Amino acid sequence: MMPPRGRLEPEVVRPIQPYQARKEYICPRCDGIIGLGVFHLVVIPEDSPDLRRHWHHGCWYKERRRRGTITPGDASEL
Ligand SMILES: [Zn+2]
Repeated sequence: MMPPRGRLEPEVVRPIQPYQARKEYICPRCDGIIGLGVFHLVVIPEDSPDLRRHWHHGCWYKERRRRGTITPGDASEL
């Protein structure tokens, strides 16, 4: 379940390297499959780590732009 629009929770974002991606996941933004061996991101709410979601890198970037939480320099942080 997505948090209500505009609600910003502290989240931990971790890159998942291709060799670590041993399962397929569904990206919550595009509902597309993140395939085996595909570099992507896992986003873990600090309050509720059980609600972690796997995102395409590009989808997470767009989501952050939508939320307005991208600041200069973020693009290189991953
Ligand atoms: Zn996606």
